[in-house]
Amino acid sequence: MQTNDPSITWVEEPRLGLAGKMYLPLIVQGLTTTARHLVSKKVTVSFPEERPQIGNPLIYRGVHRLNKDEQGRVKCVACFLCATACPAHCIDIIGIESPWPDREKYPESFTIDELRCIFCGMCEEACPVDAIELTSLFDLTGRSREEMIFDKEKLLSVYDQTKDAEPTQTAQLAAEAPALPPSSGGAS
Ligand code: SF4
Ligand code: SF4
Repeated sequence: MQTNDPSITWVEEPRLGLAGKMYLPLIVQGLTTTARHLVSKKVTVSFPEERPQIGNPLIYRGVHRLNKDEQGRVKCVACFLCATACPAHCIDIIGIESPWPDREKYPESFTIDELRCIFCGMCEEACPVDAIELTSLFDLTGRSREEMIFDKEKLLSVYDQTKDAEPTQTAQLAAEAPALPPSSGGAS
């Protein structure tokens, strides 16, 4: 691309006055935020006796789950897109030929190292079939490193545990989709 390309928008560096050069607006902005927090209402939650309220559990990035389809089978088609997108390299999948006619492969083994995960949500974004999602569970613990490596069965059990409170993205989209008009009849 040439520098004189008309599609390029050149941004002029803003001219700073003395106050700007001394960072005064930014300092005032920071102090205002601090003062606002000093006088705002404090919330104390006695965890674990009390559970903190999570604003929107559907967008919270907690422990993963592997979703199941309507027939109770793992939805994953072992395409490896999540493992490829994962910046922490904490997803390990062994894909084998599927016994079902509606897909070529499925995961014989699917593990996520929850201790290496940085909960960025890239795996969820990459999945083409909404098979992997992050839930609002934030307090699953283990007494050893091995316990925090979640295998397929454990990830599917997180789905069973959360599916009622946190419907899958596919279910949410289906619920939000406008109802189709009734068929006018006569069409073949
Ligand atoms: S949330 Fe991010 S780091 Fe964790 S498994 Fe998914 S892609 Fe990897
Ligand atoms: S969870 Fe989704 S992205 Fe990852 S292998 Fe399975 S189908 Fe592919």
